Amino acid sequence: MKTYKVYAIKDGTVIDHVPATKALKVIDILGLENEGILTIGIGFSSEKMGRKDIIKIENKYLEKEETDKISLIAPLATINIIKNGKLVEKRKIELPDEYINIVKCPNPNCITSKEHVISRFKVINRTPLILRCHYCERIITEDEVEIL
Ligand SMILES: [Zn+2]
Repeated sequence: MKTYKVYAIKDGTVIDHVPATKALKVIDILGLENEGILTIGIGFSSEKMGRKDIIKIENKYLEKEETDKISLIAPLATINIIKNGKLVEKRKIELPDEYINIVKCPNPNCITSKEHVISRFKVINRTPLILRCHYCERIITEDEVEIL
């Protein structure tokens, strides 16, 4: 088994308990590819999850809106906000009741595909994830989720 060294950061956000191999997807969703200093740990062993990824983003504090986006990929992730070397906030990601302007409706006949209508998906089931479009009632599962 490989061991990895975890580096502390002074200011920023640490996203822990990301499902193994999902770190890059989380970064993609957050639009962080070209931003700040990213450290990605892949495949740490975790008692809770078996394997997990860890993402550290220096000098950026994740907002709730961003957290909502991550919840689609990493519902068990924990968000650690670090300021001046101290953990000032630790929060779990909570699946919202509804995703607004986050998920793309795959139905080409949906009004959100044809016009500039903000997408709305209700969370029907959390595990496994099932969402329903507010407008056309299309049901989508976790594998079908496309982030806007
Ligand atoms: Zn729709």
